[in-house]
Amino acid sequence: MQKSLSERDQAVIWHPYTQMQTAPAPVALVRGEGALLFDEQGNRYIDATSSWWVNIHGHAHPYITQKLAEQAAKLHHAIFAGYTHEPAVALAEQLLPVLPGKQAKVFYSDNGSTAVEVTLKMTIQYWRNKGIERKKILAFHNAYHGDTFGAMSVSARSVFTRAFDDFLFEVNFIDTPTEENIERLLEEVALLAPDTAAFIFEPLVQGAGGMLMYSPAVFDRLLAFCRERGILLIADEIMTGFGRTGTNFAMEQVQTPPDMITLSKGLTGGTIAMGISTCTQEIYDAFLSHDKLKTLFHGHSFTANPLTCAIALASLELFLQPESLANRERINARHRQFAVELAYHDDVRNVRTLGTILAFEIETGEADGYVNNLAGFLADFFRERRIMLRPLGNTLYILPPYCITDAELDEVYQSILDMLREYGKKWE
Ligand SMILES: *Cc1c(COP(=O)(O)O)cnc(C)c1O
Repeated sequence: MQKSLSERDQAVIWHPYTQMQTAPAPVALVRGEGALLFDEQGNRYIDATSSWWVNIHGHAHPYITQKLAEQAAKLHHAIFAGYTHEPAVALAEQLLPVLPGKQAKVFYSDNGSTAVEVTLKMTIQYWRNKGIERKKILAFHNAYHGDTFGAMSVSARSVFTRAFDDFLFEVNFIDTPTEENIERLLEEVALLAPDTAAFIFEPLVQGAGGMLMYSPAVFDRLLAFCRERGILLIADEIMTGFGRTGTNFAMEQVQTPPDMITLSKGLTGGTIAMGISTCTQEIYDAFLSHDKLKTLFHGHSFTANPLTCAIALASLELFLQPESLANRERINARHRQFAVELAYHDDVRNVRTLGTILAFEIETGEADGYVNNLAGFLADFFRERRIMLRPLGNTLYILPPYCITDAELDEVYQSILDMLREYGKKWE
């Protein structure tokens, strides 16, 4: 008998963030359309988290497919040192003016983690090129900036980094700001500032840390304080960028402009991986010199791949259309309605929404290890219902493609209510 795709997978593949010994066989997907994905048996799944937060326009969008095909007929790839091409230039031209702050230059790389690595290297070398000793990076507790070593270093130390902790460079971590702690944070930053090269942060929402949200007003005070003390500001908009938080970019909700921005995830509408790091003219200028040592020595084989740039450009066009904004506003309104309903539930804590994100915690009681049982319960429940939701610990969140229909959203909401009813029974 012919083997299924899932069986063939298990013979040869090692999956990300997956304990392969205990993980169930993966679902084998063959096709996607809008917010839906279809497996090899023809079952339909609602992608309620935009496939790890990337598919902002849903799957297999016809316009993106068309632009990909057009570019594929012309140029697939070419070296980007000493050479350039239309898709890379056009994308930078279109993107820079819509970014917050005065972003002047685009540096292309391959994914979110590499975009973070590039900005870290830029900030560290910026100070070195200026002959000023500033060697520490500041970041938030609970941060997540990626899985490569530099990106891991500026992320929270957690079970995910445990095996590598001895190899990560030292970073100063501070709490996310609140009305209560802001004065203390400013004192901490004042002490750290003279040695701090840059502050890297996920603006307004810490994604992988558990969709933790904090308010723009106090955040802006922290940013302004850092800026006054010469700390470069790196806005990691890899998750928040392209409309997730109610504005096109989260940094539009504060006054203090970032010096650098990292983008990935929504950047290509989730079609092909790409990372972008942008910086202001001032940062760029610190690398201009007759001294070769002041060059930014960084680059990847696939830097500014033309197919990827063409797709990112197509995705940006779709994103800037009024229809996309209307969809985001519709999702936000629906989320806020559902949040009211959820808040009444006994096992639900801390319901919050921002833009197209809705998140809440599920009460896990006192017993140790309950979170593990919960994760298994949730995975089984939503898998059976064919709703793609993937909790972060006991935090459940919805982060849908903007094209998700009202009927599909209703199905996701209903599945959550049904899950809570089922879960509640466990306590009886
Ligand atoms: C996902 C993410 C990254 C890492 O991006 P990858 O493409 O997965 O390497 C970095 N920062 C933030 C805020 C993210 O959400």
